[in-house]
Amino acid sequence: MTDLADRVALVTGASRGIGRAVALALGEAGAAVAVNYVERAADAEAVAGAIRQAGRAALAVKADVSQSADVADMVRKVEAALGSIDILVNNAGIGIMRGLDDLTEADFDRTIAVNLKSAFLCTQAVLPGMRARRWGRIVNISSGAARGAGMVGAHYNASKAGMEGLTRGYAARLAKEGITVNNVAPSLIDTDMIGSRRAEAAARIPVGRLGTSEEVAQATLMVIGNAYMTGQTVQTNGGLHFN
Ligand code: NAP
Repeated sequence: MTDLADRVALVTGASRGIGRAVALALGEAGAAVAVNYVERAADAEAVAGAIRQAGRAALAVKADVSQSADVADMVRKVEAALGSIDILVNNAGIGIMRGLDDLTEADFDRTIAVNLKSAFLCTQAVLPGMRARRWGRIVNISSGAARGAGMVGAHYNASKAGMEGLTRGYAARLAKEGITVNNVAPSLIDTDMIGSRRAEAAARIPVGRLGTSEEVAQATLMVIGNAYMTGQTVQTNGGLHFN
């Protein structure tokens, strides 16, 4: 496992699901970890508590990452408590299920703000520190829905495809500065987001089951450990692309 001792990581949406597993894996690799959440304070505190229990520094920090003032406040708090942020995992996201006829402008705007604009806001907030130190790792948790139809809707497809474009745009401009930017693109992972559609989802996957948050965390740590890989998308999807 990559040794991340002396590194500081911020994981957005880390109170549960994939973000929680990524935060715990980063702590296990030695990083100090900021655990962002928007509503579930107790869950985020439990994740931070587990990381502290294992001997690493951790902080639960509330912020709606679609709001620039919240993001600025979050980054200030993390840097004051843990130090400059070396690793950013843009994971927070929402999947509002909508068909073609019931998708509203409000659903579209909220999805783009939470899933895509948030990654821009958080990246912009941490970049000055990473550029000054000439080291950084940014991993954007996109989705197989960036390239496929998925189960959520066209607004979600657009938000995740936008995230992949953002990743390539930053990766190209930061490669010379020791900062890598990649996507991990999960499909059909067993979290709250899948909700009651577990059986329907599992039936579509060649390996015959849903993925686990820990499997997505493992791919995220792999990307963070590789300095020669940037602007890429790693699919963690149980072979779904063969369907
Ligand atoms: P989840 O279990 O629903 O958890 C969502 C997390 O995001 C929670 O920690 C939630 O915080 C946080 N969050 C939501 N809105 C936020 C906001 N405005 N500001 C800050 N945090 C916010 O989701 P998940 O399945 O782990 O998904 C994580 C990421 O993976 C998402 O970007 C999702 O699109 C992507 N993804 C998931 C799957 C899948 O099959 N599960 C597949 C492809 C991609 P609270 O707990 O405080 O509400």
